[in-house]
Amino acid sequence: MQTIHSYDFKGKKALIRVDFNVPLDENFVITDDTRIRAALPTIQKVMEAGGSPVIMSHFGRPKAGPEDKYSMKHLVGHLSKLLGKEVKLAPDCIGEEVKAMCKAMKPGEAILLENLRFHKGEEKGDVEFAGKLAENGDCWINDAFGTAHRAHASTAVIAQFFPDDKMFGYLIESELDSLDRVLTNPKRPLTAIMGGAKVSTKITIIENLLGKVDNLILGGGMTFTFIKANGGKIGNSLCEDDFLETALRVLKVAKEKGVSIYMATDVVAADAFTNDAHTQICQAGEIPEGWMGLDAGPESIALFKEVIGNSGSILWNGPVGVFEMEKFAAGSKAVGQAIVDATANGAFSLIGGGDSVACVNQFGFADGVSYISTAGGALLEYLEGQQLPGIAAVRG
Ligand code: AMP
Repeated sequence: MQTIHSYDFKGKKALIRVDFNVPLDENFVITDDTRIRAALPTIQKVMEAGGSPVIMSHFGRPKAGPEDKYSMKHLVGHLSKLLGKEVKLAPDCIGEEVKAMCKAMKPGEAILLENLRFHKGEEKGDVEFAGKLAENGDCWINDAFGTAHRAHASTAVIAQFFPDDKMFGYLIESELDSLDRVLTNPKRPLTAIMGGAKVSTKITIIENLLGKVDNLILGGGMTFTFIKANGGKIGNSLCEDDFLETALRVLKVAKEKGVSIYMATDVVAADAFTNDAHTQICQAGEIPEGWMGLDAGPESIALFKEVIGNSGSILWNGPVGVFEMEKFAAGSKAVGQAIVDATANGAFSLIGGGDSVACVNQFGFADGVSYISTAGGALLEYLEGQQLPGIAAVRG
């Protein structure tokens, strides 16, 4: 398999699939350019190695063909600024004119193709469309982990046109390395902290993790389904009654596999889902009627901190309380701080999944953890143990 480190880009046009799906304000100004910045190392590598990047991405959700508000013209200026070099904008992503533009590029020049989703063939994974895209380059680099779980033309199908000239970019490579450090070769003990609102959206991940982790901390709204399944009284706390049996099965399998499960023993209970609700600390399985558990209590926080502090590797997905409200943020804040402390002591920590990333950023812990994955759906599918088409296409 080729790698971006060893591939000879000299004189080559390198088609790079990036994720430039950034948010814009009403004046088409980019409000968060993290995704563009994240793709720069791969683009720069190709340019510095004497190649010419042909950059391609989707942007927004155009419905039927080209739409001005989803044109890459809103991004190309900022990309040029970040690269310190003018990037040309192609009028389309396929076609004779675009092909000629790409062909005419000199080493070190870069071109941005127009939005891939202006063509239906992209999301359909159309081979013919992928073939036309492939005509614009000599090799293909996949650097869009956020769309790696989609078998789209530019993220996976295109690979067949570059059997010996395909590779990952730096961004995907570091995502995969970090995931490997947790899922394949973790420094033990490995602790996963699974939080968030619902069991139903996390159950496949939890089941997959049972074969890998030493400790599993279950937090947030989903815990109450487990507590109820165990016979606890949960008042008005969030619960998915359809998943009571599943919860019991998870606990049984964990026991069989020797995984230690840690759940809240006490909770901050509130009489309403608002920041000015009345609150009380109560035992997790003895929440009075009319009250709901919205955060981990002090005893639980101490337990979570101890487990995290003794871990060699940590994976955090989902807050352990309603962190958006100050009154119920203490648990998630303490978990974040414990991860930062463990990381400072040599543990490897990976934070992933929208809300835990938001949580880490909100409390200013981003610099203290080892890796933050912003991949969303692709990360969740990877954690579920699924094969991602965009990864398999490069490896296969
Ligand atoms: P998810 O997207 O499934 O990771 O869920 C994240 C959401 O779960 C956040 O918005 C939290 O406010 C919410 N959450 C965490 N703990 C609780 C809880 N005990 N009750 C209700 N919602 C919660």
